[in-house]
Amino acid sequence: MTQPFVHQPLPTRVIFGTGTLAQLGAELERIGSRRALVLSTPGRAEAQARAIAASLGERSAGVFAGAVMHTPVEVTESALDVVRERAADAFVAFGGGSVTGLGKALALRTDLPQIVLPTTYAGSEMTPVLGEVAAGTKTTRKDPRIQPEIVIYDVELTLSLPAGVSATSGMNAIAHAVEALYAWERSPLTSLMAEQGIASLAETLPRIIDRPQDREARAGALYGAWLCGSCLGMVGMALHHKLCHVLGGTFNLPHAETHTIVLPHAAAYNTPAAGSAMARAARALGTADAACGLYDLAGRLGATQALRDLGMPESGIEEAVRRTMADPYWNPRPLEAEALRELLARAWHGKRPSLAG
Ligand code: NAD
Repeated sequence: MTQPFVHQPLPTRVIFGTGTLAQLGAELERIGSRRALVLSTPGRAEAQARAIAASLGERSAGVFAGAVMHTPVEVTESALDVVRERAADAFVAFGGGSVTGLGKALALRTDLPQIVLPTTYAGSEMTPVLGEVAAGTKTTRKDPRIQPEIVIYDVELTLSLPAGVSATSGMNAIAHAVEALYAWERSPLTSLMAEQGIASLAETLPRIIDRPQDREARAGALYGAWLCGSCLGMVGMALHHKLCHVLGGTFNLPHAETHTIVLPHAAAYNTPAAGSAMARAARALGTADAACGLYDLAGRLGATQALRDLGMPESGIEEAVRRTMADPYWNPRPLEAEALRELLARAWHGKRPSLAG
C-alpha cells in the first residue's frame, strides 16, 4: 500500500541539452536582467567566463573570477563590492559547486536572481543549501533565497572536466541520491528520481573514465547529476553527509573525494535500518548489495578509497566520532559510537564496507 507522504517540488527552471549556453541571453531577458555579473574560479575557467560575459554584450556587468572552495565569507564580501560598483542585477555562476556556492552566498545577501551553468556533477545548483566558512568554521544553512532561479545544463561545458574529477564529483551526486532513498522526507517521486539518478551515473561514469569525450556518456552523467542534486534539494541529509562535513571541516579534506570514500561505509551502516531503500540503490547499481556495489564502482573509477591517502591522521577518527555524535543529523539507524569508530577505521584503511551491521 502507498505510504502517506508530503512532496514539495523545487521552483527552479531547468534547461538541459547540448549547446544550451546559447539560451543564456534569452533567459536573462526572461528574468528582466540588464546587467549580469558572471562568476567563475580563477585560471582557465576565467577565460571562458570572459567569453560568456562578452557574448552578453550590454547585458553583462563583467566577470568576478575569485570563487574558491568552501565559500569563504571574505571572498563573498569582495564579490559584493564588485556587485555594488557595477550595479549588477543578476548572477551567472559558471563552474562547479565552488562557483555555485559563491552565487548562492551573493543571492542570500542581495536577493538578486541566479542562473547557474554547472560544469561538474556536484548537484549544488538544485538545492536551497549553502555551506560557508567564516573564521575557520563551516556553517550550513537553508533558505529559499539560496535556491537558483534557473539552471542551464549544457553537456558541452562538462567535456573538459578531467576524468578523475568527473568520477568523484559523480560519486558525490550518487551520495545525495542514496541518502534521499532513506530520508524521512522522501516521497515516491524523490525515490524514483534517486534510483534513476544512481543508475544513470553508475552506467556512464565508467564510460567517461574510458573515453572522457564520449558525449552520450557525458549527457547521461549530467542527467544523473540533475536528478541526484534535485533529490538533495527536496529532502534532508543524514549520517553520510554529516560524516563528510565533519571530516572536511576538521581535517580540511577535499569534498568530492571524501564523499567517494565514506559513501560505501555509510551505506553499510544504514543497510540494517533501511533495507528497502538500500535494495533500490542496489538495483540501480546492478549489484546484490548497495554498499559493496558503491565500493566496487569507486574502485572501477580509479578513485582514492582510503581516508589516510587524503592526509587524515588515524588519531582523527576519535575526534570525528565525537563531533558526529555531538551534533548529529537525523539518520535511519541510531548513532552508536563503537560502530562509527569501526566505520571510520575501515574508511581510513580503504577496506571493503562491513556488512555485519
Ligand atoms: P569545484 O567546484 O571545487 O570544482 C573542482 C575542480 O574542477 C576545480 O579545480 C574546478 O576549477 C575544476 N573544474 C570544474 N569544472 C570544470 C570543467 N568543466 N573543466 C575543467 N575543470 C573544471 O568542485 P565541486 O565538487 O563541483 O564542488 C564542491 C563544492 O560544492 C564544495 O564546497 C561543496 O561543499 C559544495 N557543494 C554544495 C552542495 C549544496 O547543495 N550546497 C552540494 C554539493 C557540493
